[in-house]
Amino acid sequence: MKKYAVHEDNSLGREYLENQSTLRNDFQRDRDRIIHSSAFRRLMYKTQVFVNHEGDMFRTRLTHSLEVSQISRGVARSLELNEDLSETIALAHDLGHTPFGHAGQDALNQCMKNHGGFEHNYQSLRVVDKLERRYVNFNGLNLTFESREGILKHCSKKNASSLGKVGERFLNKTQPSLEAQVVDIADSIAYNIHDLEDGYRSGILTMSKLQQLDFFAENYGNLRNDLNSTEVDEKVSVYETLRRMIFILINDVTNNSKSLISESNIKTIDEVRTYKTKLINFSDRIQNYLNDCRSFLRDNLYEHPRVNDMTNNANTIITDLYNYYNDNFEDFPIDYKIPDKKHRSIADFLSGMTDRFANKMHKLLK
Ligand code: MG
Repeated sequence: MKKYAVHEDNSLGREYLENQSTLRNDFQRDRDRIIHSSAFRRLMYKTQVFVNHEGDMFRTRLTHSLEVSQISRGVARSLELNEDLSETIALAHDLGHTPFGHAGQDALNQCMKNHGGFEHNYQSLRVVDKLERRYVNFNGLNLTFESREGILKHCSKKNASSLGKVGERFLNKTQPSLEAQVVDIADSIAYNIHDLEDGYRSGILTMSKLQQLDFFAENYGNLRNDLNSTEVDEKVSVYETLRRMIFILINDVTNNSKSLISESNIKTIDEVRTYKTKLINFSDRIQNYLNDCRSFLRDNLYEHPRVNDMTNNANTIITDLYNYYNDNFEDFPIDYKIPDKKHRSIADFLSGMTDRFANKMHKLLK
C-alpha cells in the first residue's frame, strides 16, 4: 500500500476502545460488522430503480452495494490503496436509504421538513453509529473513523456541525481519504451503467433509444466492427456493450487518478485530506460521457411514466405512514422510540423499512 493510503497505524480509531483482533485488521472487522447488520440484510428488499415485485432480475440496493464494492476493490487495488476500507465503505454506502428509492427519500424529507429533514447519507451514518443495536456496551457498530468518514458522502452544514470530527470536512471543505473517493466514483460507475441495463431489461430503454447516447453508440459500433458475423443476439450485444463501457470507465478513473496523485505530490493521508480537490477522478472526456449517461437516464428512465407511477405510489405510502404515526404515536414500536424525538423516531423507523414491509403496513392501515 502507498504511504498516503489509510493504514491501521494512522487510523483515527473507534469511539469506544476495543481490543485488537489477531485475525482481522480494523477495516476487515468494520466490513464484517456491516455484513452481519440487520440494515444490510434489508437492502435485499429495497428498490434501486425498479420496485422489487416488478421482477427478480432487477438490481436491488443489496446487489448494487455488492457491485459498488467489487468496482471499489478493483480500483483501490490498482492504486495500491486500502482495499479493505474501500470495500467496507461500499457495502455500507446505501444503508440509510428509504424504501422505494429516491422517491421514498424525497417523500420522507418532505414529511420531515419542519423537523430537521431527511438525508440518506446522514442516515447511513446514523444506522452504523446509533440504530444498529448488537453490543451491550454501546449503540451502533463502533466503526473506525475512516469507515464513518467514507459513509458520510454528503452532508448539510447543519447536520455536519452536530457530528464532531466526522462532519468537519463539510464545514472546512476538505477531502475524505482516497479510499472514500474511490467508492464515490465506483457508485457512479455502477448505477449509471446498471440503470442502463435494467432500463433495457424492463423494455423502457430500447436499442434505438440507447443508440441516442453517444457513449453507447460508439461502443456498440466498435463491437459490431469487431464481429465477423452480423447475426448477434441483440440482448447479448447490449450487455457486451455495457460491459465495455464499465471497463472504459474503470480504466480511465484508474489511470487518470494515478496521474492526478503523482502531479499533486501528496505524501500522507493528511495531505490527501487538505488537498484542494479530489484526486480520484475521470478525465474530462470520460466525465462528459458519464454526465451524458446521467441526463439520458433522467430524461428517459427516471422520469418515465412507469417509473413515475412507482414514485407517486411511494409518496402516498410514506406520507400516509408518517401521518399515521404522528397522529397515533401510542401505536409506534417501542424499540424505535427516542425520548423527546418523536419525528426523528418515525423517520428512523420508516427509512429502515423494506419496500414490502412498507406496503404491508400501509395495507394494514387501510
Ligand atoms: Mg449507491
